[in-house]
Amino acid sequence: MNRVYYCFPGGKHKALTLSYDDGRIQDRKLVEIFNRYGLRATFNLNSGLFDRDDRRIQPEEVRTLYEGHEVACHTVTHPTIARCPLPEVAEEVLADRRALEALVGYPVRGLAYPNGSLSEEITRLLPGLGIEYGRVVGSSDSFALPENLMSWQATCHHNHNLLALGEQFNALFKQQYLYLMYVWGHSYEFDMEGGWQLIEEFAKLTGGREDVWYCTNIEYVDWKNAMERLKFSADNRFVYNPNAVSCWIRVNDGEPIELPGGQTTAL
Ligand SMILES: [Zn+2]
Repeated sequence: MNRVYYCFPGGKHKALTLSYDDGRIQDRKLVEIFNRYGLRATFNLNSGLFDRDDRRIQPEEVRTLYEGHEVACHTVTHPTIARCPLPEVAEEVLADRRALEALVGYPVRGLAYPNGSLSEEITRLLPGLGIEYGRVVGSSDSFALPENLMSWQATCHHNHNLLALGEQFNALFKQQYLYLMYVWGHSYEFDMEGGWQLIEEFAKLTGGREDVWYCTNIEYVDWKNAMERLKFSADNRFVYNPNAVSCWIRVNDGEPIELPGGQTTAL
């Protein structure tokens, strides 16, 4: 029987994503660095805090600044939601979705938990509000794919061994595994000494590499869902891809194969 391995788009086996919170004006400089080196990120915004001070990206700038990246929820007003009644949490998330979607023009489906605050009840509530993943805080020090997308922990905060982990990630070569590197933080943290140099060095180190798929958080989720929709014959001799996009697999350690959307491919 054919042995099938899932691949990231393009047949790759490594993916890199980043996640930045609070929509502060330092995002401008960060986006410029990411764009220069081809990194892709998710930016988690609080739609109720735009007017609070002049340190935040304003609504009229959101669409153009974050183009090519993902805009995701961070709740309307950034409360510690594990302390709030559930209906209030629901309103904080749904109202944030509505406001952000009006700015970006696509469904906003991701969330970074404000203050890293979550509970089991909240993780059960979110899918019903159209939220498909929730990012927590802390560092896993791992390149493993997330087990639970509603409590998705990054590989590292950028102040936690960033360059050493980037070098480790670059050195990963075993094709029998899928690897994901995930970095999170706040762009204003780079204003401290050496901060901008650190993220620029990381971008230079990890950007523009042939074996890496650069994705936003929701693109990773969409990839996972697309792979899970593939319909393999019982003997793994052919597969139907019902998605609108191509999927990529390897069969018996051969070169990656592209499975065009809407087609059945013999393996
Ligand atoms: Zn925050």
